[in-house]
Amino acid sequence: MIVAIGGSDPSGGAGIQADIKTITVFGGYAAAVITALTAQNTLGIAGVVAVEPSFVGQQLELVLTDLPVAAIKIGMLHSAAIVREVAAVLESLAFGIPIILDPVLISSSGTPLLDNPGIRALCQLLLPQAALVTPNLPEARLLTGLDIQSGDDFGLACDHLLAGGAAAVLIKGGHLEGDTVVDYLRTGEGLEYRHRAPKLTSQSTHGTGCTLASAIATLVGEGRTLADAVAQGHAFVHQAILEAHPMGKGIGPLNHLCQLAR
Ligand code: PLP
Repeated sequence: MIVAIGGSDPSGGAGIQADIKTITVFGGYAAAVITALTAQNTLGIAGVVAVEPSFVGQQLELVLTDLPVAAIKIGMLHSAAIVREVAAVLESLAFGIPIILDPVLISSSGTPLLDNPGIRALCQLLLPQAALVTPNLPEARLLTGLDIQSGDDFGLACDHLLAGGAAAVLIKGGHLEGDTVVDYLRTGEGLEYRHRAPKLTSQSTHGTGCTLASAIATLVGEGRTLADAVAQGHAFVHQAILEAHPMGKGIGPLNHLCQLAR
């Protein structure tokens, strides 16, 4: 079973809702620890109410002390206090369980989802526990402080995050100009992998980061190698965008169920 830790998206495209759907279609059993409720739809985020940090910790502790957890996926954490709480519980109860850390810092519509003290706490306390961290370009800039301008800078940014304690780093290049999206995976053991795909023009990309990280967590929990899990996660997200049914007035959800349709 896979534990997703993150925020609720009532429109169902991102956050915990995307995590549960993705883990389920990959054949995993999804457990969910909620850190915050957002009020949002495809047009953006209108409000956030955080869960009491100690209650986030209590949810996580009860899941980890009872259920057979194969992997943990972390998404939106909202505040430094929640980061600290989650990090402390993981440190005492998640030894040996792979942690896939999606550093959710800012929504694509521009709403900050983790404040600056939270970013510092994440780098200090969660990065060293992560089997993989999966920033997109703006998140990689915020986490490293580096002025990443092109794919050529990804290696340096990866090294920065590996030096910060992550066991592996996947930088998602979808925000770069050009017709091709290049994602870059580098592990602490020196494995390097570039994933190239044609950039899709689509209005259905809300929650791609959550979905990719949940797919990777489920596959890693099954015992796949990181490189395999990342490659299969990419293929799934690509297909889920291609087969999305346009929904809402803004940026709509992927079709998480595209594999079931076959
Ligand atoms: N809401 C929640 C709860 C999330 O976890 C995330 C992203 O991870 C978002 C919103 C933002 O999703 P997007 O930037 O794809 O719109």
